[in-house]
Amino acid sequence: MERFSHRARRAAGIAAAAVAEATWPTRCAVCDLPGAVLCVSCEARLSYVDWWRACPVCGAPFGRVQCSECNPVTLGHLGRDAFPFAGCASAVMFDDDSGRIVRTFKDQGERRLAEPMARIMVRALPPNWEFDAVSYIPASERARRERGFDHGADLGRAVAAQTGRPLRPLLAPPRTKDQRGLSRTERLGNLEGRFSALPRARTGGRVLVVDDVFTTGATLCAATDALAACGCTVYGLTFARA
Ligand SMILES: [Zn+2]
Ligand SMILES: [Zn+2]
Repeated sequence: MERFSHRARRAAGIAAAAVAEATWPTRCAVCDLPGAVLCVSCEARLSYVDWWRACPVCGAPFGRVQCSECNPVTLGHLGRDAFPFAGCASAVMFDDDSGRIVRTFKDQGERRLAEPMARIMVRALPPNWEFDAVSYIPASERARRERGFDHGADLGRAVAAQTGRPLRPLLAPPRTKDQRGLSRTERLGNLEGRFSALPRARTGGRVLVVDDVFTTGATLCAATDALAACGCTVYGLTFARA
């Protein structure tokens, strides 16, 4: 009886998935063709950041020789004279296509995108980075309630699985307003210092912190401050770079 009900439940689950697939077929987040959440040709056509031309410190796409971000003006906006992390890299430029992927993932709740996004991100990891664990920028409580999931945790979990490192949630969710619709200055004010490290961060170590988009760097800076205070060395890895 027990066995039968288990099998029946599983069959019902498969049937429900088949109905869902027939009613709302899986579609590419970029071109809308049915088949995969990100089709092969759209994945190949993304605007990849060329690691050899990027800034080795902050990952700015053409900053290898002279970085447009690691300068007194940009860092002054952040109230700093240097980025606090050991390095940051991003996989693709933020444009219409990568923006569509991020929105479909976060706002439309297509959580299966975490896997291809993580795969693309892991390819952008500089070969000389050494880290022991993967962590992530957690969604705010409000965003998590509205979306029903923590997009940061999904991305962190997928990157951890693909790098073979353990996933360690080290940051408490920020208590902030939604970043969208805020100006650059408001975003900085909204985020600065809003992260606190969870007690388990006190063991320190080298941590890869993942996030979906690097915009001003304020988020990663604030997260790094909280983790560095616990003795962690932080590397940042984002899917897109604004
Ligand atoms: Zn496509
Ligand atoms: Zn830089």
